[in-house]
Amino acid sequence: MTERLAPNSLLSQLDMQPRVRSFLARALEQGRTSHAYLFLGAPGSGKLEAAWALAQALICDDGGCGTCDHCVRVARRTHPDVHLFSPESATGYLIAQTRELLEDVALAPIRAKAKVYIVDRAEQLRANSANALLKTLEEPPAGVTFILLGTSADAMLPTIVSRCQCVPFRTLSEEQAVAAVERACGAPRGRCRMALSVTGGPARAAEFLKSAERQDARRATVRALDMLRRSDEADILMAAKDLVLAVKAPLDEVKSTQKAVLEQNADYLSRGALKQLEDRNKRELSARERSGIMEALASARSLLRDCLLRLEDPAADLVNEDVPEVVERLAAATDTAGAVRALEAVSRAEARIARNITPQLAIEVMLFDIRKALLCL
Ligand SMILES: [Zn+2]
Repeated sequence: MTERLAPNSLLSQLDMQPRVRSFLARALEQGRTSHAYLFLGAPGSGKLEAAWALAQALICDDGGCGTCDHCVRVARRTHPDVHLFSPESATGYLIAQTRELLEDVALAPIRAKAKVYIVDRAEQLRANSANALLKTLEEPPAGVTFILLGTSADAMLPTIVSRCQCVPFRTLSEEQAVAAVERACGAPRGRCRMALSVTGGPARAAEFLKSAERQDARRATVRALDMLRRSDEADILMAAKDLVLAVKAPLDEVKSTQKAVLEQNADYLSRGALKQLEDRNKRELSARERSGIMEALASARSLLRDCLLRLEDPAADLVNEDVPEVVERLAAATDTAGAVRALEAVSRAEARIARNITPQLAIEVMLFDIRKALLCL
């Protein structure tokens, strides 16, 4: 069945999950949307895109026209009445985050008639942070919709699952994921494959390919690994510094968007609400920096996997097909055991960053470890 969807709406672009699209479109058309959804599916199955698409349709006065001020703001992720929550500590959601969310839910919308809360990785709502949320999830104020995202109902608190309408997302094959990235950004297939291996999902891959700065950060990672063979200590420290700077570069745009949203809403909001928005902005910046660093680490992993693949099979199909010479040089300098140990060094760096060790230090240690592993020192 085909739905009547505005061509510019985010919902019309949900090609990867046609059944989810039909389901949501029908509910919207019949005015039967739920006040709490739980989108369930593997990473990269398009849950976050679907959440933004549903948010747009709920916030827009015309059910998601794709062109009005509300729709444009939601598409740019700058609508003050659509909130995205992600766990802010390595162990999950903080109690303070839930408290802030509940305080915000009680406030009237700023621009639109409705408000939407997207709660990413909802399995990380543990008992202490989730209990306060349960009552609101069951009976939110009029006009408020929750969209929780999770990988499987089994990993979530049953008290949360039972209060939401569950929407299953199918897992995409690699082929389907590559096709989705190609459609979303028009980049050549090889670039799409590389971006998927760096970001883990089609939506993030398409964003990555549209961001010159994020691609620069990947290039800085590739460069750092490539020069390890002939690096001394000072070179490695410098490379780590460059890499962290490259990761931070895209944050300038986030900062200016935050500033613009603050300025636009300064007249609408109370001092307390402004302070809350500022605090949230700060936390968003540090979360984005962390995810940028994780993306750099994923670039390192992708390159080292190619190196391992090359060592095992000289005719292997590389993911980092834009830098085959780097893969060749890495493979020539080491053996299978070295490449495996280098990959372990990347995992250790991820664990360190999750434990809130400064990115610069984690990257320095990782580069030293990778050099040692590759050169079998
Ligand atoms: Zn609209």
